[in-house]
Amino acid sequence: MFEERLEKLNNLPDNLSGKYILYSMEASLREDFNFSLEFAIQKANKLNKPLLVSFFITDKYKHSNQRYYKFMIEGILKTKKAIEERGIKFVIQKDDYVNGTLKLSKEAVCIVLDKNYLKTQRKWRENIAKASQVAVYQLENDVVVPIQVVSDKPIPYAYLYRDRLNKVIDRFLKPVEKIDLKVNSKDLDVESLEFKTPDEFLSILNIDKTVSTVDKYFVGGYDEAEKRLKEFIEKKLYKYKEFRSDPSKDYTSNLSPYLHFGQISPLKIVLEVLKHYDKNDENVVSFFNELIVWRELSRNFCWYNPLYNQYEGIPQWARQTLEEHKKDKRDYVYSLQEFEEAKTHDPYWNAAQKELLKTGKIHNYMRMYWAKKIIEWTEDPKQAFDIACYLNDKYALDGRDPNGYGGISWCFGTFDRPWQERKVFGKIRYMNDKGLERKFDVKFYMFKTDRS
Ligand SMILES: Cc1cc2nc3c(=O)[nH]c(=O)nc-3n(C[C@H](O)[C@H](O)[C@H](O)COP(=O)(O)OP(=O)(O)OC[C@H]3O[C@@H](n4cnc5c(N)ncnc54)[C@H](O)[C@@H]3O)c2cc1C
Repeated sequence: MFEERLEKLNNLPDNLSGKYILYSMEASLREDFNFSLEFAIQKANKLNKPLLVSFFITDKYKHSNQRYYKFMIEGILKTKKAIEERGIKFVIQKDDYVNGTLKLSKEAVCIVLDKNYLKTQRKWRENIAKASQVAVYQLENDVVVPIQVVSDKPIPYAYLYRDRLNKVIDRFLKPVEKIDLKVNSKDLDVESLEFKTPDEFLSILNIDKTVSTVDKYFVGGYDEAEKRLKEFIEKKLYKYKEFRSDPSKDYTSNLSPYLHFGQISPLKIVLEVLKHYDKNDENVVSFFNELIVWRELSRNFCWYNPLYNQYEGIPQWARQTLEEHKKDKRDYVYSLQEFEEAKTHDPYWNAAQKELLKTGKIHNYMRMYWAKKIIEWTEDPKQAFDIACYLNDKYALDGRDPNGYGGISWCFGTFDRPWQERKVFGKIRYMNDKGLERKFDVKFYMFKTDRS
């Protein structure tokens, strides 16, 4: 069940005199459909040792703010309970991931980690593997098909990724089997912070409280993710292909925040959909194209391109054309503050930014328009790239994710081809307000955003 998802990050053996197996959870914050957890249980059973699961929290992470911390904490408290119900000790400690993991690893047989695709998180894992005195295992838990199975290099277009993925996907469409634990570890003597509510947890963190929470729209946790998935399959999926690009309607899954925090597994989503629908149904094909092809292509992009979150990481042709048009006169130029406060001349753009400020997410179609217009109304494309990343990472619940960097980079030409040349954009694909008016009821989208 684990082979193709499993990697050993150092050459050290298990320390058989260690007290416990340590699973240091970071990317896959769930009990269900979690390969890392089941691998750690299997290891514990084989060696007749208890299993310790840890979660470390720090207030020094990028844009640490109460909006996404609350969502993450709501999720982690529920996951702690679900894991404890299986007889496993779960500890929460205030520490950074590397330090905390290494401290607990001093008494461990081995360490189990989840894979992550972003630079900072990869560095954390490298540092753990370098400094650890015991074996470090990592499992690729948050994709349907491990990205290195699909390709050992960056893939420039979605259709190429889809072709490669389709050749191998069938063997990965199997549920994660739950393994019964032999040694109950609940009495392991390891310190843990205990909280009754997410707010009590939040109160010990020195994070940015100026970004509002978004509980009215999204509550964290695997149970909430499952509710949304059920609702999506029952009420929305049958119209997904037709309406997924219509922001005035509500036909997408809204699962991206849950996927971002690993509160639900993409594999579980796929298998649940296939319990109710045929894999060749046009809506399923369209949904899997987003959930699997585009989502996993973004992971391929971040894994193989270290400049994924920088303007310099876009394709050569795109950079060249944008540079050639750098001096073109812009009809409007806005500062970061004006963008952030939704104070442009364009009511459609302002509505998208307000949706982000209020709800923590923008509909995909408006998200493309949103980033394209930042290019048009900024003096320099590099500055535009940075503004889009800053706003998305700060306000989006699903931000700071490979999808965000892939999505923003797409607006700058990545995964795309040259189009007809025009002012400011050069050969980068252009979008305008007339296109929105033609495609859907944009006035109703504005009304909905205002009213929500
Ligand atoms: C400028 C820009 C910024 C973006 N920033 C983010 C971000 O920070 N985080 C994020 O998760 N997505 C981002 N996306 C991709 C996409 O907009 C969101 O994934 C989608 O809107 C999430 O809503 P949903 O869960 O209802 O999607 P659904 O349509 O229900 O799709 C299901 C899942 O498929 C994945 N998915 C859907 N569309 C895409 C896509 N275009 N690329 C990659 N994966 C996709 C997501 O995980 C999504 O949850 C961005 C796109 C653009 C153009």
